[in-house]
Amino acid sequence: MTLTRKVLVAMGLGIIVGLIINLSGLNAEGGFTHDYIVGGLFYIVGKMFITALKMLVVPLVFFSLISGVLGIGDIRKLGSVGLKSFGLYMLTTAIAIATAIGLAAVVIPFFATPAANVEAFTGKEAPPISDVLINIVPDNVIQAFASGNMLQIIFFSILLGISMLMAGQKAKSIAEGIEVMNEAMMNMVNIIMSVAPYAVFALLAKAVSELGFDLLTQLAVYVVVLITALMFHLFGTLMFLLKIFSRLSIGTFLTKIRDAQVFAFSTASSNATIPVTLRTVTKRMGVDNSVASFTVPFGATINMDGTAIMQGVSTVFIANIYGVELGISGYLTVILMSVLASIGTAGVPGVGLIMLSMVFVQVGLPVEGIGLILGVDRLLDMVRTSVNVTGDAVVTCIVAKSEKEIDLETFANENAGIVEELEIDDASEEALAQVVHNTEKK
Ligand code: ASP
Repeated sequence: MTLTRKVLVAMGLGIIVGLIINLSGLNAEGGFTHDYIVGGLFYIVGKMFITALKMLVVPLVFFSLISGVLGIGDIRKLGSVGLKSFGLYMLTTAIAIATAIGLAAVVIPFFATPAANVEAFTGKEAPPISDVLINIVPDNVIQAFASGNMLQIIFFSILLGISMLMAGQKAKSIAEGIEVMNEAMMNMVNIIMSVAPYAVFALLAKAVSELGFDLLTQLAVYVVVLITALMFHLFGTLMFLLKIFSRLSIGTFLTKIRDAQVFAFSTASSNATIPVTLRTVTKRMGVDNSVASFTVPFGATINMDGTAIMQGVSTVFIANIYGVELGISGYLTVILMSVLASIGTAGVPGVGLIMLSMVFVQVGLPVEGIGLILGVDRLLDMVRTSVNVTGDAVVTCIVAKSEKEIDLETFANENAGIVEELEIDDASEEALAQVVHNTEKK
C-alpha cells in the first residue's frame, strides 16, 4: 500500500472510532476513555505529530528559500514570481468570498433560524494595514525565527540569498552546504510523513469523538451552505483557474494534491502543512524549488480561500439572525476586509474566527454572534484548511507553468515522488563515517 492510501485508511478508521466513542457516550468526562484514550493516547500522538511538522517549517522554509533564490538563474524572475503569486492569491480569495456571499445570500434567508447555543466570544480589532506592511521586516531575525513569523522569515531568507549571490564564487561552498541541508530537511519530511497513518488516526479519532453532533444539526443550514461553497471553490473555481491559466491536467492535480489535503484536514493548519505541500508540489508535481520555496510558505500565510468562504457565509448567516441589513456596500466591505485580514493572519487552527471578528467590527455586526457558530467551527476549520492548501498549490502550479519552472514529465508521472521506504544505504553510511574520521584525525 502506498503511504497516501495508508493515511486515507487511517483517516477513515479514525472517523469510525471517533464516531463510536462519540455516539456511545464513552467520552464522558472523568471516564477512562476520556482521560486515557482520547485525552491521553490520541492527544499525545496527534500533538507530537503536529509539533514535529511545525518543527520542520522554519528550517525547511529557510533552506529551501535560499536554495531557491540561488537556483533561480535570473534574479529578476523573483520579482515576477512574487507579483504573479500575490496577484493570484488575492484574486482567488476575492472570488472565494464573493461566491460564498452570493450563495449564502440566496439560500440562507429562507432557512436561518436562531440557534440555541450561543457561546461567549470576544473579538479582536483588525491591525491597521500600515502595521501589516511594517511587520514584514523583522527587527530581530532570531525572534522572527523563534516565533515562526513566516513573512519575516521569507523576507530575510530572500535578502540573504540575494546577498550570497552578490558574494559570487566565494559563496560556492556555503551554497553547496545549503543545498545539502535542503535535501536533508526534505528527508526529514519523509521521516515524519512515514508515521502519518498513526497520527492521522489519532487526530481524527479525537476530533470526531469530541464533536457536538446535535449542534451540527441545529446549524445545518450554515454547515451545508458553507461546505457546498467550499466544494464549489475547490472543484469548480480553482480547477477552472488551473486549467485556463496552466492547461495542466485537473485529474492528475487532484490525485497528487491528496496528501497535502489530508494533512491539512487532520492538522487544521496550513502552516504546519507547509512541509507536505512543499514536498507535494516539488517532488510529486515537478514544480521547481525556485518557485515553490517562495509561493508555498507565502500562500500558507496570505492565501486563505476556505477561510474567506467561511467568513462570507457566516457574515450572511449572522446578519440574518440578528436582522441586520448589510446591503451591497456592506458586502463589498466584507470582501475587502477579509482579503486584507487574510494577509495579516497566519495559517493556524481557528484563526479564521479571529479574522471574522475583525470583519464584523468593520461592518458593525455584533461580534458575540460568532459564539453561535463556535461549536461547529472545529470540523469546518479542517475542511476549509484543505481548501486553503489546495489554493496554494494551484497558484504555485500556475506561476511555475508561466515561468516554465515545472517539469511536465514529473507532473504527468503518477509515481513521481511517492514516499518510499525509508532507508540509508550502507555505502553512503560508510563513506560519511570515513569523512568524519578523516577530519577528526586532521
Ligand atoms: N486553520 C486555517 C488555516 O490554517 C485558518 C482558519 O481558517 O482558521 O489555514
